[in-house]
Amino acid sequence: MKITFPHLGNLYIAAESLLKGLGHEPVTPPPTSRRTLELGSYHSPDEVCLPFKISLGNMLEGLAQGADGVLMIGGWGPCRLGYYAEIQRLILKAFGKQVEFITLEVPRGRWGEYLGRFRTLTASTDLRTFWQGARLSWVKLKAVEELELHAVSAQPREKNEGTVRPYLRRQLELLRTAQTVDEVQEICDAASRGFRELQAHDAVRPLRLGLVGEIYTVLEPFANLRLEERLGSLGVEVVRTISLVEWVRNHIFKKAVGLYSLAPLRRLAAGYLRGFIGGHGLESVARSVALARQNLDGIVHILPLSCMPEIVARAILPRISEDHGIPVLSLIVDEHTAEAGFQTRLEAFVDLVQRRVERFEGQRQARLSGS
Ligand code: SF4
Repeated sequence: MKITFPHLGNLYIAAESLLKGLGHEPVTPPPTSRRTLELGSYHSPDEVCLPFKISLGNMLEGLAQGADGVLMIGGWGPCRLGYYAEIQRLILKAFGKQVEFITLEVPRGRWGEYLGRFRTLTASTDLRTFWQGARLSWVKLKAVEELELHAVSAQPREKNEGTVRPYLRRQLELLRTAQTVDEVQEICDAASRGFRELQAHDAVRPLRLGLVGEIYTVLEPFANLRLEERLGSLGVEVVRTISLVEWVRNHIFKKAVGLYSLAPLRRLAAGYLRGFIGGHGLESVARSVALARQNLDGIVHILPLSCMPEIVARAILPRISEDHGIPVLSLIVDEHTAEAGFQTRLEAFVDLVQRRVERFEGQRQARLSGS
């Protein structure tokens, strides 16, 4: 089967290997663009959240490239993700697209249904090829994250401005074409040295801002207007709190066998939020507390307009900010977000955090010289 899937950052690199291992032909949609969003928005109900619209646009672009199947993740809980796949399937059907829609989600006891979907996916492969593809895909997913983490650390320290991001893009292209686990390892080792060489040895300590929010908006550069890159070019090191590798480990593997627990997050969020509210709302609150305890310089919170779990988190973050003395910026994005205004808000926040850090440093120096 020719299978397409929605973009989520650089996840397509791992998804391609997985689908090949499963005996399918991956049809990677073109990089998400304004056209993708317009296409998705045109066929979506007005009030749905931004990730729905963009992912539907990706599917339509993938189908236009000849795909006859769609791979999508599902979800459950008090947020709209649980309905995404079904509504998108119905929209595509109403649009005259006869496609096989395969939704991967945690079984929640419906193992028969889950295994049925899994069999559709694995029907055209043998166990050995499947295992090799799945392993390569997992290794690539971890490698993508490793390269991206190198980039967020290297960009605010770069020797020559504007060198880190193009270097990251070249390494990701190499990773995409890697055929074996050893090749992936070699790329990561060489890239680790490469990123080090791009950094100035005498670089000053950059500002460190934690990033929390709704997972799709955090991970998809089109949806977040290349937030990490923008912050990096303002001299900020972004501290990520969301990892796709961790998400897959927790929500696909551990949750399926009952090994995933929200208890650590609940403990962190205690006093602010009692439990799961869907999406990443609890994580946003819990991770913000953790970031404040790590003495980060500030927190950036990003969410799509009308995202219920993050709206709840957004209402709580000012209290965390006040209790822990850490500045927080909440950014809401939708299809009408203008780049200029977005950039201005980021610059103003970075400026505020920078002056605050300098003031504290001045007070510390004064105390030391006075003693
Ligand atoms: S977490 Fe928010 S943006 Fe994501 S699906 Fe749920 S409501 Fe929509």
